[in-house]
Amino acid sequence: MASQSNNLSQGTIAVRGGLNTDDQYGSVVPVITPSTCYRYEEFAKSREFDYARKANPSRRLVEETVAKLEGGADAILTNCGMSAIHLISVALLAPNDLVVAPHDCYGGSYRLFNSLSQKGYFKVKFVDQSDLVALQEALSLHPKLVLIETPSNPLLRVVDIKKIAQQAHDVGALVLVDNTFMTPILQKPLELGADIVTHSCTKFLNGHSDLLAGILVFKDQQLATDVLWWANNIGTLTSSFDSYLLLRGLRTLAARVNLQQDNAQKVVGFLANHPKIAKVFHPSLPTNLGHDIAKKQQKGFGSLLSFELVGDADVMPKFLKALNIFTLAQSLGGVESLICHPATMTHSGISAEARKTAGISDQLLRISVGLEDITDLLADLQQALETV
Ligand SMILES: *Cc1c(COP(=O)(O)O)cnc(C)c1O
Repeated sequence: MASQSNNLSQGTIAVRGGLNTDDQYGSVVPVITPSTCYRYEEFAKSREFDYARKANPSRRLVEETVAKLEGGADAILTNCGMSAIHLISVALLAPNDLVVAPHDCYGGSYRLFNSLSQKGYFKVKFVDQSDLVALQEALSLHPKLVLIETPSNPLLRVVDIKKIAQQAHDVGALVLVDNTFMTPILQKPLELGADIVTHSCTKFLNGHSDLLAGILVFKDQQLATDVLWWANNIGTLTSSFDSYLLLRGLRTLAARVNLQQDNAQKVVGFLANHPKIAKVFHPSLPTNLGHDIAKKQQKGFGSLLSFELVGDADVMPKFLKALNIFTLAQSLGGVESLICHPATMTHSGISAEARKTAGISDQLLRISVGLEDITDLLADLQQALETV
């Protein structure tokens, strides 16, 4: 992979991904390549691309750009975040192999590992990775793969990637970090010891809530090549048009992430001092689990936060109905501000008792702060809080 970008900063790499790669017309923005097949140069001699399930030029440009952003040797773009995690599971794990995953990992990952382990594809153990004794106990079972997800959803708990990666490596496990919430702008897991980074590109990397995609970024080229064999084998890959849109979204990644984070910090300040808010969760707060780790591990605290409303069950629908800008929807990382009620939305598949144990109360709301003007965002929250 091109190494001349090694000394460029993240923002520049993101803006310039795939620019000036068109030799035919000299177009600055790369062309979209919908073709499923590529003409052989001659008998028994294929070109760089032959069949689009395996690889195609539009997808390749995204893979190269995100690999550079994360500091990896190579990347594989898939059709959504879940298919990236599925792909790595299929490629790496055999029956009796163990995956250790966080007890509060993304709901879709929890469901995927659980359902596949119930069918005997591999074994899974969910642990609270901030509990060092529980983690050590799980690692003593010699897992093949350890998934880390930090900050967690929806309580933004932070765990130490470097420490966990080291312990996992000591027992021979590979370390996969889901970096969806932070993006490479705010956190670089490969530098902290991870072997593989995954993203739901559906969220911040695209940033415009108009496509699904996922990615795996590898520290090691050989592992990437092995997993690509599986990607082609099972067919997990993204369309050219979505790849093109994703590359377009990536150009503004650093600008979006930094401004959304600034907005979020102001929302946190506002909510933390409001009498109708019982508690705020954000890695910037000293009360948040892992705040000290976040300070050294992350370049910023991010634009996701959650909070508990004071009052009983009937304040929730009133407050949500009164909001004009924050939209009740369950994605995150887009330019638009979204609000989510985990108990009835993202975490409704988990029993009420398990939610309680995990600290997800019925009064909890999660916000993904967007790029709207901060004055309007604060005014919207202010007027909605006045109605409850
Ligand atoms: C959304 C999300 C996923 C799954 O991604 P999809 O693109 O929806 O399949 C995985 N991990 C995290 C942290 C997510 O937020």
